Amino acid sequence: MGIVVQKYGGSSLSDADAIKRVARRIVDAKKAGNDVVVAVSAMGDSTDELLDLAAQVSPLPPARELDMLLTAGERISMALVAMAISDLGFTAQSFTGSQAGVITDDVHGKAKILDVTPGRIRSAIDEGHIVIVAGFQGVSQQTKEITTLGRGGTDTTAVALAAALDADVCEIYTDVDGVFTADPRIVPAARKLATVTYEEMLELAASGAKVLHLRSVEYARRHNIPIHVRSSFSTLEGTIVTGSINDPAPEGSMEAPIIAGVAHDRSEAKITVVGVPDKVGEAAAIFNALAEAQINIDMIVQNVSAAATNLTDISFTLPTSDGQTAMTTLDELKARVGFESLLYDESIGKISLIGAGMRSHPGISAKFFTALAEAGVNIGMISTSEIRISVIVDQDDVDRAVQACHTAFDLDADEVEAVVYGGSGR
Ligand code: ADP
Ligand code: ASP
Ligand code: MG
Repeated sequence: MGIVVQKYGGSSLSDADAIKRVARRIVDAKKAGNDVVVAVSAMGDSTDELLDLAAQVSPLPPARELDMLLTAGERISMALVAMAISDLGFTAQSFTGSQAGVITDDVHGKAKILDVTPGRIRSAIDEGHIVIVAGFQGVSQQTKEITTLGRGGTDTTAVALAAALDADVCEIYTDVDGVFTADPRIVPAARKLATVTYEEMLELAASGAKVLHLRSVEYARRHNIPIHVRSSFSTLEGTIVTGSINDPAPEGSMEAPIIAGVAHDRSEAKITVVGVPDKVGEAAAIFNALAEAQINIDMIVQNVSAAATNLTDISFTLPTSDGQTAMTTLDELKARVGFESLLYDESIGKISLIGAGMRSHPGISAKFFTALAEAGVNIGMISTSEIRISVIVDQDDVDRAVQACHTAFDLDADEVEAVVYGGSGR
């Protein structure tokens, strides 16, 4: 008997009827003769609602307590899904991340999975149960505290379970039919990708295409688990994430497309450290302090220092959710580094163009920047990797910029195939 690992996102579990629908799909996989293990997210927007509630009680809640609160969301859905399955005459058992053996480091809010020890899952399977695991959570090896994996983390739970259980593939069920050339909510003409390589999907996810959690793609690549992203609302084949940009093209295959897609991200903020003395070690002091505070930095730009003052400005982007902590951390550093002031801007957006073909086709940046210029979009910062070009723009320009790039690179589909079945996109 094969083992099937599935994941259902919050948008697929929005209410009681949705839960019953998902239960029927899970039971279908069991009826087809498989052992079935399912990772579930919290219902609908309930994680956001819990966060809103926490913010009303405390502007900067203790990270441990926030994790205790947020993991409750997934516990609610795991139990309800198990109940719905039992109502269909099948037996299911639900497990928290900790019970399922999801072992993490001790970083609250963005813990990394270190290991999965699926003993209890295996016993439950052997007893004939369908196994439902609360996604997005684990338990720290060192502190024994409950942790969460970061927003969207149930994808990573699912891939980690698939790896630990030697599944052939991990199925991620969501509210769109697969991975598209852009977010279908912004570009109705987006095209579904039949396949996409791990590297391109990593860049898409890191650039804001939240259809997959970044860590889930890293994990899948490391353990060589293909991910099948598909809709829980349709029976269409989705997108298979597998293979490398360095794999030789199969004999007689068409040339791979140059661009895999356009991603956007509204979740970053920009901090500018104004008037930094232009001398050795200043940038190191600033970024060491931020690293110690566990803050991930994205783009960095340092201006040429003005000759008269010998002072420079350093700007960088980071997740808005880390903005408060970063500003507090830098404020404490002010006297030591001797910079003048700090600026904070949340009204930015990032547009990224991703594709393996960039490596061998010149002129991609020129075309990208021209498309933005023609759409009247001003570029604030630029960064690149081997297969990605990203720009920071005004947040109000994000939709227009994505649509313009999508069209400029001939990604628009002739017939609309990008259906959004549910979810609020929150
Ligand atoms: P779930 O609740 O299933 O985890 P998410 O909201 O986290 O769902 O992810 C699915 C959403 O990702 C889609 O509704 C879509 O708006 C968004 N998305 C962003 N970029 C893409 C893309 N390139 N392809 C598909 N979906 C995308
Ligand atoms: N419920 C969590 C979130 O909303 C985890 C997930 O959905 O994957 O981020
Ligand atoms: Mg998600």
